[in-house]
Amino acid sequence: VCMAASCQSSGAAQVMDALDKAKGDGQPACKVKGVGCMGLCSAGPLVAVADKEADLAGSVLYRDVAPEDAADILGSVGGSPVERLRCPTDQPFFARQRKIVLENSGIIDPNSFKGYVAAGGYASLVQALSEMTPADVLREITASGLRGRGGGGYPTGLKWSTVAKMPGEQKYVICNADEGDPGAFMDRAVLESDPHRVLEGMAIAAYAVGASKAYIYVRAEYPLAVERLQNAIRKAKRAGFLGNKIADTQFSFEVEIRLGAGAFVCGEETALMASIEGLRGQPRPRPPYPAESGLWGCPTLINNVESFANIAPIVREGGDWFASIGTEKSKGTKVFALAGKIANTGLIEVPMGTTLRDIIEVIGGGIPDGKTFKAVQTGGPSGGCIPEAHLDMPVDYDSLKTLGTMMGSGGMIVMDETSSMVDVARYFMEFCMTESCGKCVPCRTGTYQMHGILDKLTKSQASRDDLALLEDLCEVVQATSLCGLGQTAPNPVLSTLRYFRQEYEEKLQGET
Ligand code: SF4
Repeated sequence: VCMAASCQSSGAAQVMDALDKAKGDGQPACKVKGVGCMGLCSAGPLVAVADKEADLAGSVLYRDVAPEDAADILGSVGGSPVERLRCPTDQPFFARQRKIVLENSGIIDPNSFKGYVAAGGYASLVQALSEMTPADVLREITASGLRGRGGGGYPTGLKWSTVAKMPGEQKYVICNADEGDPGAFMDRAVLESDPHRVLEGMAIAAYAVGASKAYIYVRAEYPLAVERLQNAIRKAKRAGFLGNKIADTQFSFEVEIRLGAGAFVCGEETALMASIEGLRGQPRPRPPYPAESGLWGCPTLINNVESFANIAPIVREGGDWFASIGTEKSKGTKVFALAGKIANTGLIEVPMGTTLRDIIEVIGGGIPDGKTFKAVQTGGPSGGCIPEAHLDMPVDYDSLKTLGTMMGSGGMIVMDETSSMVDVARYFMEFCMTESCGKCVPCRTGTYQMHGILDKLTKSQASRDDLALLEDLCEVVQATSLCGLGQTAPNPVLSTLRYFRQEYEEKLQGET
């Protein structure tokens, strides 16, 4: 039973209880197990019946399961499937994905340490500690071509090598799990589905760069992810994969969780570190970069959840294997959260370079209710909206920038013909205005002013001069804000102006 937050919100816990109860009522001998995200959130609660604890694709999958279906599902074990509930696993949503980060999601019980180990968990950490020097690990990560999955796309091997080279007894590793983009839930799903995978990646990173202490900075709004992380840390410690002298080596590694209090800006690495230090979560100018002077002035490695979740497979299979997947400059796969006006809302993982059309029309199942596609918003409040004409663009770090947006951390919000692009721009500007930390004037005042004009536009009260001022402000705020939040806040406005200017024109006062 998928017991990630999405399926739980549609009643998965009650389904699991009903299955447990029905099993106790003399149904066939089988084990009922809670697992992580199976991906197709729109069809939850999802239940998979497998001969053994096999892969999701080899199971009979059921969708929209209610507690009353428990007896029928258990009765079908070893016999004919319950056709009325069946969800085909050969449909493109499943068949067109390639899973590396999510290879255990929907299969293992995220609360089970044994389940993770049985799936090959912690073997990469043991391999790194017993067969590789830190320099060997750095070589593999560099060869893999992995780039930061938080959206920045900085080469992971280069970042790790910089921290490794820095002098100092005390170094830190931080996992940035402060996922805050509207519509994005990749990190939450990974933490809820496979928390040990993230811990293992962090431990390998610490070994490679010479750190012994780490923090996971995670949103307090993700209680299930926090609970599963706490459980994973406790069990990994008990099994000797965290703490002193791991795997009988001299390597020691401790992890602590720090809860974010809901400030979007704390996803920015310097603000995040200030928050861990107990200070107000505000960005500071860089340099110095965290790799040189981070947490409490010590060299610090910061990567996000998905980046760390890629590490164990890279160590296991080798950097060249990872580099053989994806595009020339964007290697591996990417996890995306599909949301909005799309048939298959949920979590997917595809090779870098997959086109937007494949993601939206094939894997995502297109636009529901007979409506037509209008735009897809990528990159959260820092990104932009892409129209139908560019759907054949392969998705990677560089290509989406040419369209005035970015891949970002993986949120994709699909809009249909009923969406107003001026409303969309206003929504994202309101988000940035509210989340601006107020430290620098261009962002603090600029987002407020831009939001005011966008608000007037949505009410058809703005003049042509207002529109010109909005465009000027976009330029100024972009060029003069201190951190990424302000620098990218104008992007949704600029991209909607670029592709949907007509909608702005139609909103001008007295010109309709
Ligand atoms: Fe704060 Fe915005 Fe300035 Fe960033 S750009 S430091 S969020 S006011």
